[in-house]
Amino acid sequence: MNSVIDYVHGREILDSRGRPTIEVEVATRGGSVGRASVPSGASTGSHEACELRDGDPSRFQGLGRRKALQNLSEVIAPQIIGLDVFEQQLIDDRLVELDGTRQKSRLGAGALLGVSLACSRAAAHQSSLPLYRYLGGQMGFVLPVPFVNILNGGRHADQALDLQEVMIAPVGARNFSEALQMSCEVFYVLGELLKKDGHHTHVGDEGGYAPALGSLHEAWEYLDAAASQVGLKWGDELGLALDVAASELYRDGRYHLNSEKLQLTSEEMVAYLKDLVERYPVISIEDGLAEDDWQGFAHLMREVGRQVQVVGDDLVVTCSERLKKALASQALTTVLIKPNQVGTLSETLACIHAAQKEGLRVMISHRSGETEDPYIADLAVAVGAGQIKAGCVCRGERTAKYNQLLRIAEELGDYAVYGGPKG
Ligand code: PGA
Ligand code: ZN
Repeated sequence: MNSVIDYVHGREILDSRGRPTIEVEVATRGGSVGRASVPSGASTGSHEACELRDGDPSRFQGLGRRKALQNLSEVIAPQIIGLDVFEQQLIDDRLVELDGTRQKSRLGAGALLGVSLACSRAAAHQSSLPLYRYLGGQMGFVLPVPFVNILNGGRHADQALDLQEVMIAPVGARNFSEALQMSCEVFYVLGELLKKDGHHTHVGDEGGYAPALGSLHEAWEYLDAAASQVGLKWGDELGLALDVAASELYRDGRYHLNSEKLQLTSEEMVAYLKDLVERYPVISIEDGLAEDDWQGFAHLMREVGRQVQVVGDDLVVTCSERLKKALASQALTTVLIKPNQVGTLSETLACIHAAQKEGLRVMISHRSGETEDPYIADLAVAVGAGQIKAGCVCRGERTAKYNQLLRIAEELGDYAVYGGPKG
């Protein structure tokens, strides 16, 4: 079958916050098609690849993506049509070259990533393989532990915790579907307990509850009660994970934890986090410090890096160069991977492989503004990440990823291995 690309088309669709994002379709002469859409962050790192927005106030309050789509049809498509869909690296090199800027500010990471991912889907289609198998071959058999964002705070909720994400990780499940069931059961009971105390149970951007709780100390009472009512034990069965998203708290040299009325130096922030690790069954802390606080990260590693994962999101932004610096500074144990932070599939895979080669772990991640595209579920299995965060167990754009993992688990049957932070 002819695998030469002969069609590339982009359109504006809506993300889960109702904001325009980009969807791309690619087809080959042989008739294989691939479609992919691109998510969008709220607590974006300043070193991420750029998202191009029109800035035209007459459409979507300036959030439209017509300029990016114009780039797609006039600049990108003519250079991609005619390439072989199996030449992913060549396609992605071409995309990077065409843009030519460090943060993809000319053409926009959205259009580039849409094309890159859609090409890989068309290639999988052309090979008659599921995406995870096309990307990962026979090595794609590890189902990731879901880090389920059960309490949403920070930029993802209105009146909420300073901490952006409080997650539960069902590390002791026997398989992925049991992991999801455990998470759901805790989610249901947590909702009942919050409601009983008069807290509202509306959900935040990533599907977790967003009650007006002042701190993790208050939240913990509810989480602990919910887990014990479900019959789950912290430690062997369930872990607690945090995304502090500390870049959002950092101003004028201090970390501002407003609901706790604290203003902490980097050293004090590390002490604050260490105290949380000592008190609660925390297994993972993401972005405990701000995106350029390399010393703070290294300090946090020295204090708690043996007990918990120290995860870099805004710190590394899926960028191999920043990963090198993180390795040299011994700043983390785990790299968070978000394809739209860097802009192409090949650069995403390069960052994953560089991390894995150096003995770091990777966690594949969604964005707070998502689409129904489950691409990252296949990606997590393909690279054997062992960990994924795709939000809570409600909201369709979140369950799209978890449901895809259920399908993959079913397809792999006895070959599936349930992963984990230690894997
Ligand atoms: P974002 O949040 O998609 O809003 O950046 C996710 C995260 O910080 O991990
Ligand atoms: Zn994060």
